[in-house]
Amino acid sequence: MTTTAENTEEKRSLNFIEEAIEADIEAGKVKNSPTQVVHTRFPPEPNGYLHIGHAKAICMDFGAARKYGGKCNLRFDDTNPSKEDTEYVDAIKEDIHWLGFDWEDRMYYASDYFQQLWDLAEEMIRRGLAYVDELSSEEIAAQKGTPTTPGQESPYRNRPAEESLDLFRRMNKGEFPEGTKTLRAKIDMANPNMHFRDPIMYRIIDHPHHKTGTKWHAYPMYDFAHGQSDFFEGITHSICTLEFEVHRPLYNYFAKVLADIKGTTYVPRQIEFNRLNLTYTMMSKRKLLACVKEGLVRGWDDPRMPTLCGLRRRGYTADSIHSFIDTIGYTKYDGMISIKLLEHAVREDLNKHALRVMGVVDPVKLTITNYPEGQVEWVEMENNPEDAESGTHKMPFSKELYIEREDFQEVAEKKFFRLTIDKEVRLKSAYIIKCTGVVKDENGTITEILCTYDPETKSGMPGADRKVKGTLHWVSRKEAVPVEVRLYDNLFTVEDPSNDERDFRELLNPQSEVVLPCAYLEPWAAEQARKRVGASSTSTANRYYQFQRIGYFCVDYDTTEDHIVFNRTVLLRDSK
Ligand code: ATP
Ligand code: MG
Repeated sequence: MTTTAENTEEKRSLNFIEEAIEADIEAGKVKNSPTQVVHTRFPPEPNGYLHIGHAKAICMDFGAARKYGGKCNLRFDDTNPSKEDTEYVDAIKEDIHWLGFDWEDRMYYASDYFQQLWDLAEEMIRRGLAYVDELSSEEIAAQKGTPTTPGQESPYRNRPAEESLDLFRRMNKGEFPEGTKTLRAKIDMANPNMHFRDPIMYRIIDHPHHKTGTKWHAYPMYDFAHGQSDFFEGITHSICTLEFEVHRPLYNYFAKVLADIKGTTYVPRQIEFNRLNLTYTMMSKRKLLACVKEGLVRGWDDPRMPTLCGLRRRGYTADSIHSFIDTIGYTKYDGMISIKLLEHAVREDLNKHALRVMGVVDPVKLTITNYPEGQVEWVEMENNPEDAESGTHKMPFSKELYIEREDFQEVAEKKFFRLTIDKEVRLKSAYIIKCTGVVKDENGTITEILCTYDPETKSGMPGADRKVKGTLHWVSRKEAVPVEVRLYDNLFTVEDPSNDERDFRELLNPQSEVVLPCAYLEPWAAEQARKRVGASSTSTANRYYQFQRIGYFCVDYDTTEDHIVFNRTVLLRDSK
């Protein structure tokens, strides 16, 4: 039994959409619907890959259905015949599954309803609620009026229903060129809501449709198709983004017309929430497509893209995306969300799951002059201190190592607590070393750092607890495996590339991908990474790593037995 306190707690955490749904359940509206359960739909247009904004919609649509024991349909909005592609359909399905949702046997296309929509349009003509107009789109626009001045009625508005019916059918036979005729709803040319001023329901498009071929020449507009498809599927809550708020009265009008024709009281309800906008990226599918087509990125799944497949390739987990979306919530106000919130979410999740390993991304050789030639010691490392079950692995230590070039300064700046001449640091999980000198090439670049070690300072030895300021990561030179590392950063240099006067191509961050062809990784980690060869993009086994002191990395799909590639997902902490 739940206590009152828990109940209040739960009430407080409901968002406004859940509140609306609960009110509709309470009022019996859900019981009055065709499936009698909360029934939502996710309606992507298959003209691009899904991005993190779509994930927000998916979590709401599928999430609400899950929460209230209802159903969520997947409906491809393919009402515009000229733009769709089956590559997108497959990718969209994969991404929804990756987020942990399923539409069961309810995958539909808006084009499945073309006949039903057509029949409904004919019935509206017969009832005097629609007419075929012969004005051009320019003339229609010119007669629309303004929000404060009424529009003018089309001269074709009051033509007999039989004439409209005949013309409507001939529109669909391909008898008239595009743009010469439309079907318009006969509502009110003086309505203060411009969407009521005889909106267009059908237009002629002479382009074969990827599913229906050349059967249709007249295609329904979004406003007519979407709400009616909701009706046909028995949707109770049609949740969408804020730009559709102004269309809602028309949505309700068409729903009522259909309910009257069908003689029911059930109607779907549209509810709008704020679209997700993230800093340093953009969500426009058109512009993302341009990035792909122009080769500005590696493809739709480039680790810098805000697409779900791109985020996945970058090393984002589905759980981290869910937790990010929970954090930002759903509101009625558009705004910009900091990408740092998304980065924080992935850091928190990877902290729980990533294997701790040592990798040196920008190596410089370090020789321990007093360490025995040819000796190898195996030091033990925890796989993940956050996960007691994860165990340990062993890593070789020897006379010649690599450390990170930036961890050494010949002349140390103030507050530089890493390695410098005559100073000591600890090599993580191994000994304390002291720098005695450097070797340089003819250009003055350091090629080798010379050190001595204190044999008493290893774990288990008397000097194990001796304190020094810095601790460095390292790998043993002979056993380390060379790997390619790709460092990723924001794709754009400005916070809001979509609202900049400059073209987005001028705003690309030239440092968004930095490829380091020869980083070094401890051998155990390389062995784990090789297990990924041939794995699917959505499998998570052996995928996530923390390179100690550097950041979270994941094995890229380009990895082969002989060539391991890692992507940097995110730095260990927010550095900017
Ligand atoms: P288009 O311009 O191609 O219509 P779209 O972003 O609206 O682009 P759809 O495929 O039509 O793409 O979107 C499917 C669903 O995802 C819609 O319900 C839409 O409201 C929602 N959606 C799209 N972008 C975002 C976003 N940035 N934040 C939240 N929801 C979004
Ligand atoms: Mg859309």
